[in-house]
Amino acid sequence: MHELDTPTFRLAVAQFDQAAEAMELDHNLRERLKLPQRSLIVTLPVRRDDGRVEVYTGYRVQHDTARGPTKGGIRYHPDVNLGEVAALAMWMTWKCALADLPYGGAKGGVAINPKQFSRPELQRLTRRYAAEIFPLIGPDKDVPAPDVGTDAQVMAWIMDTYSQQMGYSVPGVVTGKPLSIGGSLGREEATGRGVVCVTMEALRHLKLDIRNTTVAIQGFGNVGFHTARIMQECGARVIAVSDVQGGLYNSNGLDIPELFTRYKTNGQSLRDTKLGDWLSNEELLQLDCTVLVPAALSEQITKHNAPKLRCRILAEGANGPTTLEADRILQDQGVFIIPDILANSGGVIVSYFEWVQDGQRFFWKASDIQERLQDIMITAFHRTLEFSVSKKTSMRMAALMSGIDKVAQAHLYRGLYP
Ligand code: GLU
Repeated sequence: MHELDTPTFRLAVAQFDQAAEAMELDHNLRERLKLPQRSLIVTLPVRRDDGRVEVYTGYRVQHDTARGPTKGGIRYHPDVNLGEVAALAMWMTWKCALADLPYGGAKGGVAINPKQFSRPELQRLTRRYAAEIFPLIGPDKDVPAPDVGTDAQVMAWIMDTYSQQMGYSVPGVVTGKPLSIGGSLGREEATGRGVVCVTMEALRHLKLDIRNTTVAIQGFGNVGFHTARIMQECGARVIAVSDVQGGLYNSNGLDIPELFTRYKTNGQSLRDTKLGDWLSNEELLQLDCTVLVPAALSEQITKHNAPKLRCRILAEGANGPTTLEADRILQDQGVFIIPDILANSGGVIVSYFEWVQDGQRFFWKASDIQERLQDIMITAFHRTLEFSVSKKTSMRMAALMSGIDKVAQAHLYRGLYP
């Protein structure tokens, strides 16, 4: 197991152990579900624009296939490693089960900084990666999607590479594609819309008014941006957002559409957009606000900064942003936590809609997608809340336990092979 042993994997396993203990999960299943079902490491030789060939490492991990094909994003980030991908795949399993999607969890990644690649280089790398993981993926096997550092264009290249090998177009092999090749309306904003949807439910539960709600968001990628935009459209005041370098603070609320325009013309940087005061990522996390949304990477909220957090609600847009020690501190402080596998499940839910539409060759209206997304998320939120109240456990444990329980049932019914 040592090859998986990284901080993120340890966090995922520690969460699992805690939930498994509390629910008295079958010991045979415990050992199995702690580890991924399949892990593939691939070596990717890629020709750079200057003619040199450089070699990169990629991964695809399928955590569990008991409930259906596996599902999960592909991450392009320099810190990607087997343990991180395995942890993210495990979280996808619980996330899909919690939302009642007929999927197991998977994740993939390549250890690169995509910002250091030209578009043709990124295309060559993506196609080679898709060709190497080809034996594992397919609409009925494992369906990748965007994650940190990847987008609809990357999905289009994967879909094309897979389709070239098959000899016909297979839109359902990935989700988060462009609309013109079988993508779904509402997929790009889905994670952000889902974060806002469950945050609104939490505000209602805590009897807080959206008009007096202030929001701070760590991250201004796909999740951070759409969360900020939709929060503002719903009437909240978004007082801070950040990117990797740092963030902007404006107590009157940031103008998100204007900020996004300047961010793009500024080479994807918030610095010099002049719409607020500059602050560090650490300062952003410690702002006095109603809702804090970590929407960047894992392990951002630790035992060191957790005592300094000043939010009422923590809505986890990112996967695994809070360490176990920090979790305990925040609970003691009375912070209402909407855990990642619930808060950020909007992305995979609309991915599921996309996959269903691809399979049926019949595409839905934007309003149908929003309505069905909200229906699933609101149900999952209240089921988790009721479970957490009745069992006197945290929202995180409640979410994990209901996800794990569905996976355990599938395993117990199917039995052990051979
Ligand atoms: N990468 C996203 C996540 O972590 C979406 C996965 C998907 O759509 O399959 O949930």
